[in-house]
Amino acid sequence: MYYIDPHIHMISRVTDDYHRMAYAGCVAITEPAFWAGFDRGSVDGFRDYFRHLTEVEPKRAAQFNIRHYSWLCINAKEAENVELSRGVIQMIPEFLNKPNVLGIGEIGLNKNTKNEATVFQEHVDLAMKYHELILIHTPHLEDKYKGTRMIIDMLKQDRRLKPERVLIDHVEEHTVRHALDNGFWCAMTLYPTTKCTPQRAVDIIEMVGTDCIMANSAGDWGKSDPLAVPEMIQEMKRRGHADSVIRKVVYDNPLAFFRQCARWQEWPAETEVEKAKRKPAKAHA
Ligand SMILES: [Zn+2]
Repeated sequence: MYYIDPHIHMISRVTDDYHRMAYAGCVAITEPAFWAGFDRGSVDGFRDYFRHLTEVEPKRAAQFNIRHYSWLCINAKEAENVELSRGVIQMIPEFLNKPNVLGIGEIGLNKNTKNEATVFQEHVDLAMKYHELILIHTPHLEDKYKGTRMIIDMLKQDRRLKPERVLIDHVEEHTVRHALDNGFWCAMTLYPTTKCTPQRAVDIIEMVGTDCIMANSAGDWGKSDPLAVPEMIQEMKRRGHADSVIRKVVYDNPLAFFRQCARWQEWPAETEVEKAKRKPAKAHA
């Protein structure tokens, strides 16, 4: 079955991972900007990172017929440095017309601090000014519930924002309904042992249904599995879910969300009829 991994940090993975993902049916991935494992010291450090995300990774993925897309931001862990964050936010528009950029992300909260909230809101403002999609990181710590509520409250305060243009990531049993009930898309992050396992993710799907929900590996520097989405596909098959139901979660849903970005490229080639069916997103200046 073909699938899309909507959240994986390929900068931290080896080329063999692309190879194995392609064999498992992966046709596209999206890579949010994240923490490098150390705090970067300058705006130029981020500029080089964004060049990696928009120039290097798409080429590496293309060798395996995988489409590579990316999201740009300064992540919540580095947002304590507000001055640096503002410099990065000012620089991001240099990259917003790169063909593989889908929007602003993954922005959010880490320890739910005041500085993190300030930088979060400035990112949202940037996304609104440029009519960009938003990808949200919710905290992994015990503060996930509080952090998710804080994030959704801040998003709801911005009257320009349309919830269907925002994807709230790393949802779990206690946060998924809050995101869906407010009209947002959401994603579950599958980790082999900690956080949401493929089994728990399928339990969540059985609890809330398949509308506006997707799953990702969030593969990164840590112990994670770039084949986590195929693992979940296997678990859904084992429980007797129809192929059309599985396909909705791992392919149709991410496609429907990402298609809202004008830079999303269809494959193999979008027919004129299909093109006419979807509402074109407004291009930014
Ligand atoms: Zn991530």
